[in-house]
Amino acid sequence: MEEQSTLLKVSGLKKYFPVKGTQIIGGKRMLKAVDDVSFSVEKGSIMGVIGESGCGKSTMGRTILKLTEPSGGSVRYKDKILFDVEGRQEIGKKELLKTRKEIQMIFQDSYSALDPRQNILKVLSEGVVKHKVTDKGSVKDYCAHILSLCGLEESALYRFPHEFSGGQRQRIGIARALAVGPEFIVCDEPTVALDVSVQSQILNLMLDLKENMSLTYLFISHNIGVVKHFCDKIAVMYLGRFVETGNAYELCREPLHPYTQALLSAVPITNPWEKKKRIYLEGSIPEGSDIPKGCRFHTRCRHAQERCRIEEPGLSEAAPGRFAACHLY
Ligand code: SF4
Repeated sequence: MEEQSTLLKVSGLKKYFPVKGTQIIGGKRMLKAVDDVSFSVEKGSIMGVIGESGCGKSTMGRTILKLTEPSGGSVRYKDKILFDVEGRQEIGKKELLKTRKEIQMIFQDSYSALDPRQNILKVLSEGVVKHKVTDKGSVKDYCAHILSLCGLEESALYRFPHEFSGGQRQRIGIARALAVGPEFIVCDEPTVALDVSVQSQILNLMLDLKENMSLTYLFISHNIGVVKHFCDKIAVMYLGRFVETGNAYELCREPLHPYTQALLSAVPITNPWEKKKRIYLEGSIPEGSDIPKGCRFHTRCRHAQERCRIEEPGLSEAAPGRFAACHLY
């Protein structure tokens, strides 16, 4: 079997935002959107990050790409250090531009991600010209080819974003990311705004493109039902931290962390013979500026004990290749 190589390595990533209008002894109060997250993504794989809205997963994606400044930790892409906050290292501007060609992002809101005044040729050709992907005379043909890979006709080049449906706009968003020839794509809830039937069309398209173009995905979603069959590995995020990670199939078959169990219990059953009891989580996710002491999930956990209110569990190996941050393991 071919040995997999690590494409992206994230270590101790943090992104904190100062909370406006607060001043406490020793500095401002901080909203800890991403709070010490570490993982790696192997070439050719799909890593899923799931969690409720506001858990920090989209901020994590943006911080990895340096679209927002990190507060701590490091990110390595292949042999390049994109940043290492504690080691005071940062990739140079020229190198960052080159790396941006290799790492692209697909955004959840395809409407606001596309400039309404630009036709699709302009949308796609911008990155193609900037990164000199093809010679000037072939840009139009190249863009038409990329559009066709995403299931759209050449005539779409001369239309504007508002003339397309949500699913078509997401195909354009994918085409824009692909046009510069990336190897790694951060997909930030690319199907969230779409109908269920269109969602599966887009997911199938992304799977085909991954196989045909040897891509690697970091797939961010709030819906574990969507990523379940799509990802190789899954990390479950709660209040800025991973609470469970592991092989996607194993994790979905037998979730270990009470939070993962609750998320999976909400996924509709497709097999009529399968029986499943819904686990309802109490309350809503606490504020990232007011993270509970001890286990950050204890305010909503049905298994919480005294120890959980005092001591925060670290992510430890609960079964071979399975990691959970929970005192039950
Ligand atoms: Fe629940 Fe305690 Fe485990 Fe946290 S550590 S998930 S509160 S059982």
